[in-house]
Amino acid sequence: MIPASFEYVAPTSVEEALAALAEHGDDAKILAGGQSLLPVLRMRLNAPEWVIDLGRIESMRGVRDGDDHLAIGAMTTHDVVAHDPLVAEHALLLTKAVTQVADPQIRHRGTFGGALAHADPAGDLGACVLALGASFVVQGAGGTRVVPADEFFVGLFETAISEDEILVEVRLPKRPGWGAHYDKFVRVAHQWPIVAVGATVRMDGDTIGEARIGLTNMGSTPVRANAVEDALAGQPATEDAVRAAAELIGDGSVPVEPPSDLNGDADYRLHLATVLTRRAVLAAAGRNGTQA
Ligand SMILES: Cc1cc2nc3c(=O)[nH]c(=O)nc-3n(C[C@H](O)[C@H](O)[C@H](O)COP(=O)(O)OP(=O)(O)OC[C@H]3O[C@@H](n4cnc5c(N)ncnc54)[C@H](O)[C@@H]3O)c2cc1C
Repeated sequence: MIPASFEYVAPTSVEEALAALAEHGDDAKILAGGQSLLPVLRMRLNAPEWVIDLGRIESMRGVRDGDDHLAIGAMTTHDVVAHDPLVAEHALLLTKAVTQVADPQIRHRGTFGGALAHADPAGDLGACVLALGASFVVQGAGGTRVVPADEFFVGLFETAISEDEILVEVRLPKRPGWGAHYDKFVRVAHQWPIVAVGATVRMDGDTIGEARIGLTNMGSTPVRANAVEDALAGQPATEDAVRAAAELIGDGSVPVEPPSDLNGDADYRLHLATVLTRRAVLAAAGRNGTQA
């Protein structure tokens, strides 16, 4: 279908974009890479009167070294993130996940910030930013504020970004010495995950010092598996110890609400999440020969 007609504006600065957003309010929609928004417009699930295209705002693109963190501009495409050496060095989990997002065409158009602002619970990047302890820089008329990843996803397709704000940058703390792995379960290549798990692990010798785990498509938002992380700390990185911790996902200790659909019912997803968590943690810990 062809979208309903709309007015189009392409500002060249965040301030201009915010002014357009303030002027048109509820009648406006922000356009990033368009990979999620355009299908919505074409299906006429949304019909904004104004589309504000962020594509000409150069300051929102690229990966910057911020000393103790990496800063990724919201308009940086998935493909740029996938090939960035700083991301591979300091946030390998992201490299591993973003190379599995959709197909090359979509990765060349879709943006890092657009995917996170869209907040699809099946999106691959939400679990990763939880596991990486990211923070989100959101700008409005009154200035910028920083939202920690644990507070960013508030519901199905809903984030802490207000109607009059724009996500400008995502910051990832550098965590030297951490291993990382993203395990995504799909039926065929280039699909959305049925379930996926992102894990980062810091080893103290043969013992797991600390672990951070995010689950994809296990609820209306990406889910942090805190109970599993706590159970792993101080444990040896053995198959049995990691399996015991991962099984906490199925016993109610982790706040998951897996959906049931044609790809699998909730019980199947619970089982998958347990298995993928074990695999991802062991790989991130350098076991199974698949460490970062
Ligand atoms: C066929 C297909 C397969 C896909 N498979 C996967 C997959 O396997 N894994 C995966 O993770 N994703 C997948 N995607 C989604 C892809 O990652 C998109 O790039 C992403 O969801 C949206 O990014 P975008 O830049 O295109 O945003 P857009 O479509 O332009 O915008 C998405 C939404 O976010 C809002 N928005 C965008 N940028 C900002 C901002 N800076 N501040 C505030 N609001 C903003 C927009 O208003 C809109 O509501 C797939 C998409 C398609 C079409």
